[in-house]
Amino acid sequence: MITFDEALQKVLGHSQNYGDEFIELTKSHGRILAETIVADRDFPPFDRSTKDGIAIRFDAFNGQNQRFKVSGIAQAGSPQLVLDDTVSCIEVMTGAIIPKNTDTVVMYEHTTKEDEAFIINEPVKKGQNIHYQASDVHQEEVLLHPGVKITAAEIGVLATVGKATVSVKKLPKVAVISTGNELVDVDKTPLPFQIRKSNSYSLFSLLENEKIEGDIHHLLDEPSAIKQRLEQLVKEYDVLLLSGGVSKGKYDFLPEAFDSLGVEKVFHKVLQRPGKPFWFGKHEQQKTTVFSFPGNPVSTFVNYHLYFKPWLNKTLGIDTTHFAVFLDEPYTNSTDLTLFIGVTLKLKEGKLAANTIPTTGSGDLLALAKANGFVKVLPKEEIPKGKLVPFIPTRNNGAV
Ligand code: AMP
Ligand code: MG
Repeated sequence: MITFDEALQKVLGHSQNYGDEFIELTKSHGRILAETIVADRDFPPFDRSTKDGIAIRFDAFNGQNQRFKVSGIAQAGSPQLVLDDTVSCIEVMTGAIIPKNTDTVVMYEHTTKEDEAFIINEPVKKGQNIHYQASDVHQEEVLLHPGVKITAAEIGVLATVGKATVSVKKLPKVAVISTGNELVDVDKTPLPFQIRKSNSYSLFSLLENEKIEGDIHHLLDEPSAIKQRLEQLVKEYDVLLLSGGVSKGKYDFLPEAFDSLGVEKVFHKVLQRPGKPFWFGKHEQQKTTVFSFPGNPVSTFVNYHLYFKPWLNKTLGIDTTHFAVFLDEPYTNSTDLTLFIGVTLKLKEGKLAANTIPTTGSGDLLALAKANGFVKVLPKEEIPKGKLVPFIPTRNNGAV
């Protein structure tokens, strides 16, 4: 059986590039940018006022009690005005282009209005309250590089440079497939020997975080029906995310079905807990990648984060960010498995401290709703209280 690190390397070795596509800017949140974005003009594109007030020519200002007669009003969104008589002023609004022959803006709050004139009450510095053309960036300067995850901040930049459509990395088409005769739908009342499907829904919503709309399917534990459906699904999808049916049970038919359909096994079973019976393979001809997770809800959930998420990141050309937290209790792993222990995080003396969550095992999906993520404990590792340990976040916004 292979180790967790070996298994992860093998999975990453099968990442794939699905190419790029153009989508509407308003649909691009959370997607990975696939083009270089340059400034289509200077930013700001003209000298703009940063205050509502009056624009004057500084050289004409000779101290207190001087009256500046208003000769016009410059509104944001209007062409540039010209100050003909340099001892007068033009009222300017925030975002308006600075009038020709003026070089300084005095905010209304530093003036007193008398009839149609302003008297300046505060000291004035030449050039104040002007955001100069190209002081942020010059035309043609690179603003965003490919590989950036598009968030609200990037959407603002893209809109500013006129990208109504934007090139992003294409996402794989994913099928979420649960297996098992004991499973009923969420809107059904289970008989005493049945349970409701939960893995399909948690996988579906994990994929939503990645902007992937998974299609949900279900297979009963019946070998010929499984083969028939899988044959179709392998053709139709880039990725199959399965749960259940890959362990040692009498009704775990998936490995045999994959084999008969030509899905090549890369590995089956990993020295880890939870999630040990994980089966990973690839149909080379159809280019379908198959992640077949053991059905226990915690195993499916953990393996999604351990394997599918880094695989997807690599496929999209982005790094998987790793970080570490302080374990707030001692922990001994007496097994030869890599363990992933559910933890809650809290700030303790300015550091992120992790406490393990008591759980009955990998069937305990209710414990997942308490966890901020999992810490990784190596085989035979003895961790003293306060040691830094690798942390796998399982909440959408990172740590907490
Ligand atoms: P299996 O890997 O098929 O042997 O399933 C292991 C355990 O996980 C069994 O108790 C199943 O009932 C349970 N299980 C399998 N698939 C699901 C699912 N989609 N949702 C909730 N529990 C599941
Ligand atoms: Mg099963």
